[in-house]
Amino acid sequence: MSDFKIIIGLEIHAQLNTKSKMFCCCDNDSQGKKPNTVVCPICLGMPGTLPMPNKEAILKTLKLGKALSCEIPNYSKFDRKHYYYPDLPKGYQISQYDMPLCIGGNVSLELNGVMKSVKLNRIHLEEDAGKLIHLSKNTIVDLNRAGTPLVEIVTEPVISSPAEAKEFMRSLQKILRQLNVSNADMEKGHLRCDANISVIRSDQSSKIIEIKNLNSFKFVYRALEFEINRLTSDFEGNIGPGKQTRGFDSKRSQTYPQRLKEEASDYRYFPEPDIPTIDTTLLKIEEVDSELPSTFVLRVHEEYNLSKEVAKKLTHNLELMSCFIVLEGKLNHDSLKRSANWLANEKILRINPDLLVTLNRSIEKSEINSSQAKSILRSAVDEEDIVQQIKKFRSNDGRDIDGVRKIIDKVVESNKKEKEKYLAGKKQILGFFIGQVLGELKGNGNPEEISQMLKSKLDGK
Ligand SMILES: [Zn+2]
Repeated sequence: MSDFKIIIGLEIHAQLNTKSKMFCCCDNDSQGKKPNTVVCPICLGMPGTLPMPNKEAILKTLKLGKALSCEIPNYSKFDRKHYYYPDLPKGYQISQYDMPLCIGGNVSLELNGVMKSVKLNRIHLEEDAGKLIHLSKNTIVDLNRAGTPLVEIVTEPVISSPAEAKEFMRSLQKILRQLNVSNADMEKGHLRCDANISVIRSDQSSKIIEIKNLNSFKFVYRALEFEINRLTSDFEGNIGPGKQTRGFDSKRSQTYPQRLKEEASDYRYFPEPDIPTIDTTLLKIEEVDSELPSTFVLRVHEEYNLSKEVAKKLTHNLELMSCFIVLEGKLNHDSLKRSANWLANEKILRINPDLLVTLNRSIEKSEINSSQAKSILRSAVDEEDIVQQIKKFRSNDGRDIDGVRKIIDKVVESNKKEKEKYLAGKKQILGFFIGQVLGELKGNGNPEEISQMLKSKLDGK
């Protein structure tokens, strides 16, 4: 294994939870409905019909893109992707080829206590195909799903292990749900994943495999693990022509060959002639889900006891809101609350959940205090910069412990009344003393240490 480098890229399909389908007025929720009853001439692909793009689907895609820090180009278009399959009556799928709605972006995840940001390549919008149901003797087709709006989220090949791929899916699911763009229920097929995996040997020879349609976090992990073991244990034996597409048999926990992977040129993409180019500058993301900000405000107010004012400020900027959502589950209650206040009230140079996690961990370990963290936030450009600045504050702290002691003596002497109150049992007045000392130190002290030193001084120990 150590001789091989593993690179994984994921393509995730998420069904959008819009009211109607992507290019027609059919209900987008066909859960529990009889097969082929939630259909119309457009989603059945009848000749002579014209697709009408769903504005809500486009807005939800842009909203997701904004939340994941994607670039939103001014213009975007739809294309036809040709292939023949029984669940695709038109003989082509309306998708996006060279002008997707969202470019770049990233998703943060935490694995074994370490934060990582996974770069995205793009997010585009397309329509889902129908569903084939395999019976014992024959296969039947249900076209209720045909035309469901589907976003495809494509990562760069930067994921390095099955565990990381699984965490990526978890993070993404959470964001999709919090933004209310998809129900993202993997069991119901709302969220599906194709994994591209490259195994590169030290002599740079490599193999590329695509595993299709993984529909649970566990399967993503198990399929990748199986494939890595298969490829690395018999590297020479597994070399075949071109890329290979494989499926995953969840019962046997192993992958099996399906077909040679198509290249883009096999699909004969061309611009969809029936849909004009989209000018994204004319679209207002706020139009979609006007109820979302108020739901968010109420939720974080109740769950984290955040003031409604702070929560509202977070909803004014989708980048702030999505950063907060990513931080949930990564930070403890106090740190999360602190971060929300920073996001709402501080001039932060770079809004990035990883940087906020690093700073909060440092505060939790009493390496720096909150006001030091704020000054770092205002100037730090990246993680490395933050680590350096934390180091600098730490070395300043330890430099002059006698100096700190002198300041403590001075503060205690000049606040005799407060000292008496403290000795009379009003212990919370310690906070006042800490504040005074930190003020004298211009925010440079370590509150934990100062608190200990103050206690010794006041208790006369
Ligand atoms: Zn329809």
